[in-house]
Amino acid sequence: MTEIVAWAELKPAEFIARRDTCPVVYLPLGLCEPHGHVAPFGLDTIKADYLVTEAARRFGGIVAPTMAYHIHETGYHAPWLRKVMGGVNPLLAALPPHLMLETLLYQLRAFHNAGFQAVVVISGHNANQADLRMVAEAFAAHHPISHFVRSDPELVAGRYQGDHAGRYELSQLLHIRPDLVAMDRASWVTTDPLGRFAQNPDVTEATAAEGKAIVEASIAAIGDAVHGFALDRGPQAFLPMAAMEPIWAGIAARRADWVTLRGDEG
Ligand SMILES: [Zn+2]
Repeated sequence: MTEIVAWAELKPAEFIARRDTCPVVYLPLGLCEPHGHVAPFGLDTIKADYLVTEAARRFGGIVAPTMAYHIHETGYHAPWLRKVMGGVNPLLAALPPHLMLETLLYQLRAFHNAGFQAVVVISGHNANQADLRMVAEAFAAHHPISHFVRSDPELVAGRYQGDHAGRYELSQLLHIRPDLVAMDRASWVTTDPLGRFAQNPDVTEATAAEGKAIVEASIAAIGDAVHGFALDRGPQAFLPMAAMEPIWAGIAARRADWVTLRGDEG
């Protein structure tokens, strides 16, 4: 039987036992956005879910409900969309930065109140992580909690080159969910009304073997982080929602520093 590690699938007795053995929670972040004709919209979500589920099975801890909406369309995303989509509707499920970042703050509160002492946030969408880290640092400055916030390419930086719907991402999907890959559609970029639909030209170089190597290196990097956490803080006081308000006010006051709002010169 497969070990259950998802908060959503655990019953109270098993949740408490699992948390008390290893008080680490994983938050997978993804997004539905164009990934070419060869891959499904949720590639980023599928990657993040897989990495943290495997990490929880191997290193302990519990996987929080997936956050499958993400920041897009604003800041640096806007010129990127113009470049890779032209005038085509990207059919994506985006949130503005303030909603995503404030939501993350309250997700951290929920993890604190649920008795976790460390948080691993893995984003399959390789963007926005600087601001996600800003929120985790702001929360931890008020209510200490260990945190490791990374996009998946950051886990293997220097070893593999991240991309968007290219060799890197499709290799991962060929390993994780080969049933969702339609590599025979790689050439549709020139004939389909949707154009390249954000597909990278090197996508046909993707292999399941390379995907397995990338995924295993990513999981190992998460394991290194988990093993480095200090998990001996003991019980902590319940935080009411109102306790987040001054923390959010501080983050909002530094809006000019948000990376997710920068980079659109029209
Ligand atoms: Zn992606």
